[in-house]
Amino acid sequence: MKIEKNKTSKIKTKCWDLFSKIIRITYADWRGYEVCVTCGKTDKWEKMQAGHFVDGRNNTVLLDKKLVHPQCWNCNCNLSGNKIQYVMFMKRTYGLTDKEIEKLDQKKFETKKISRKEWIIKYYELLDEYNEILSRQ
Ligand SMILES: [Zn+2]
Repeated sequence: MKIEKNKTSKIKTKCWDLFSKIIRITYADWRGYEVCVTCGKTDKWEKMQAGHFVDGRNNTVLLDKKLVHPQCWNCNCNLSGNKIQYVMFMKRTYGLTDKEIEKLDQKKFETKKISRKEWIIKYYELLDEYNEILSRQ
């Protein structure tokens, strides 16, 4: 089915599905395994989740690669993102200061309007990126 025939909310969900896969495949090693950034647990990328550093999943943070990393189910769902460990990971990985972390956290209050057309374009961009990654494997 053509993506254009879906409701905007469905297109957004499909964008997220692709984005989540891209994140998880990107961090996986050659065997398909990766490490949860907040507890160190290792598992196959298919079993991992793409966890947001900033809560809310609004349009500002939903598809931001700097704000989404592999997490296990326990950290992402059960521990609501395992936030203290996530802060430490962000500081370690991106060299962020407390102030910068706080600024990122404020993004959960930001709103960004994305039109239906933009979501459709985004979907095809993500699909291209996903196919490109798969073709390299
Ligand atoms: Zn974990």
